Amino acid sequence: MSLPSKILMLYTGGTIGMMQDPDTGSLRPFDFQQLLDQIPEIGLYECEITTDSLDRPIDSSDMKPEHWIRLAKRIAHDYEKYDGFVILHGSDTMAFTSSALSFLLEGLEKPVILTGSQLPIGISRSDARENLLTALEIALAQHPGGRPKVPEVAVYFEYDLLRGNRIHKFSTEDFEAFQSLNYPKLAEAGVHIKYNFNAIHSGKNEALKLHTHLDENVAILTVFPGMLPAYVNPVLQNPEVKGIILRTFGSGNAPTDQWFIDELKKTINRGTPIINISQCNGGGVMPGKYEAGKGLVDAGVISGKDMTLEAGLTKLMFLLAQNLSPQEFKTAFETNLRGELSE
Ligand code: ASP
Repeated sequence: MSLPSKILMLYTGGTIGMMQDPDTGSLRPFDFQQLLDQIPEIGLYECEITTDSLDRPIDSSDMKPEHWIRLAKRIAHDYEKYDGFVILHGSDTMAFTSSALSFLLEGLEKPVILTGSQLPIGISRSDARENLLTALEIALAQHPGGRPKVPEVAVYFEYDLLRGNRIHKFSTEDFEAFQSLNYPKLAEAGVHIKYNFNAIHSGKNEALKLHTHLDENVAILTVFPGMLPAYVNPVLQNPEVKGIILRTFGSGNAPTDQWFIDELKKTINRGTPIINISQCNGGGVMPGKYEAGKGLVDAGVISGKDMTLEAGLTKLMFLLAQNLSPQEFKTAFETNLRGELSE
């Protein structure tokens, strides 16, 4: 007889476990046991679930790289003990956490499934119960022989399983909060959970390699019509900033003003990489397709291809911490490391 599967469920906070503060009326996280008490069905699964939570559950707006590293270390520490991991997390910054975990956990061959909800578990119409139970079921799912069906970082929300470093939060209103416009769904849950094995990481029998460093000295610069040097220069000329995401128009275009291109060049020549990521959520950067994007290519801006902002920013923090030469950095950024970009 085979042993029951083992799952580690980590609670970080977020709406799923929030309740209304009687004094202020605002939602704030409450403790994990109260959350679990609301889902007695969890006891029906034939598995051993170990639960743990942050000392103080938080709104995901307060998530920081140190939390991502702590989560990654915990997974790596307990990697052999468990068959899968479920992380309960606020939806606001879930895409950053799932992207960061994908980079920190190189060679991951077990499910790390993040989920949360749009309404707190205590509310009768809440999406929390279904999200949590299906995320658990996905973390438990194995092929005959015991190989996990989803050996990667993924997010389950409102019947869809999506790759963790391909998602963006689109809606504060719909239960379907997330979309992955540049990569197919990994699974859809209906009466059955239908896995899309063509899209799921197939597993290479690698050993897990934990990374524990991220460089937070980064900035995001969003271009807009009419932007002035007074907005742009403090970011581009800041010596503390070690890498910049440039959020461009359409397929990677920006205003062609000479002062702007010159400032970009100076920043890059000083050794600060600048990454081109589109403000559009679907499609990606096509360097030099338009005249309005050529100046960026000539200045040495690196293409973020079809990466999301969340994947691009966390990849930037990850690669800056690797002490790569400028050429190695550019090559690594434009290479598909964890399924975060299409080649
Ligand atoms: N503000 C909440 C959070 O991200 C929203 C949510 O959980 O959906 O923690």
